[in-house]
Amino acid sequence: MTGSPRLLDGKRCGDALKTEIATQAAAVKAVRGRAPHLAAVLVGNDGASKTYVEAKVKACGSVGFRSSLIRLPETITEDELLARVRSLNADPELDGFIVQLPLPAHIDADRILQAIDPKKDVDGFHPQNVGNMVLGLPGFLPATPSGICELLKFYHIETAGKHCVVVGRSNIVGTPISILLSRNAYPGNCTVTLAHSRTKDLPSITRQADILVVAIGKPGFITGDVVKEGAVVVDVGIHRIPDASKKSGFRLEGDVDHPSVRGRCSAITPVPGGVGPMTITSLLMNTLKAAR
Ligand code: NDP
Repeated sequence: MTGSPRLLDGKRCGDALKTEIATQAAAVKAVRGRAPHLAAVLVGNDGASKTYVEAKVKACGSVGFRSSLIRLPETITEDELLARVRSLNADPELDGFIVQLPLPAHIDADRILQAIDPKKDVDGFHPQNVGNMVLGLPGFLPATPSGICELLKFYHIETAGKHCVVVGRSNIVGTPISILLSRNAYPGNCTVTLAHSRTKDLPSITRQADILVVAIGKPGFITGDVVKEGAVVVDVGIHRIPDASKKSGFRLEGDVDHPSVRGRCSAITPVPGGVGPMTITSLLMNTLKAAR
């Protein structure tokens, strides 16, 4: 490719959607007498998780939502956390809540996520919401895949008939985005290949992708030589790379090696400022939906 690829700017798209969310949140408040209310549960002291949760809470303020940050100790037992989830389910002042992942190793995350009331499950991880997504029924879509769809829509990326390769099959990103992009909808109608760590000859598959979604959790893994000329590249990965030149002591990188990939693709999500802000925006959209 000659020239720079189009940047799929998640901050710009997220800000545009947030303006609309704020208008609708004010309307909800006028009718119900209280603003939409999101709670975030953070267990332990993981620095990255703390940053994500704080960003979610801050975003609530930017659209006129109420938010609560519930910090719990690393040593909390599974039963104590389950009891907390049940009390949030029963709280009539709360529209939706999330339990930030990952949880400490002694806690079964599936058991916690399955205990969340599906009507308050604004992360869209409960099996009932996942089932609704697969069947195309109303429910909460998982935040990151839904944010990717909003971003593709905002930039009018053509998806019908395209070959989309998703690298990574996690329950929160890879698997749901593969389902959403194969639906008979826009964005969607892609022919989807879902690749993972047991996939043979991954480069021969990624080189076929018109749309390449990368969510594997390995910094800079996808390089320019394995990307098809003119592809649209969605980089979901977020990694804190130690960097003494930064005030924070680290810089953020994705799963894609941007310097080599930018020369080949037609559009790409930056890291930071691509998929990350869209995940937060989707969470706000789900909370608004729960409040209504
Ligand atoms: P997981 O670790 O849950 O899943 C990683 C997936 O990648 C697995 O399916 C794994 O395969 C696959 N994989 C690992 N190595 C390879 C390889 N060499 N070749 C092919 N496939 C491979 O990750 P998540 O989906 O939770 O997250 C992925 C990345 O996205 C992380 O960097 C995370 O921080 C980031 N993230 C960003 C978000 C955002 O808002 N921007 C939100 C959520 C995540 P297998 O199943 O066979 O083990």
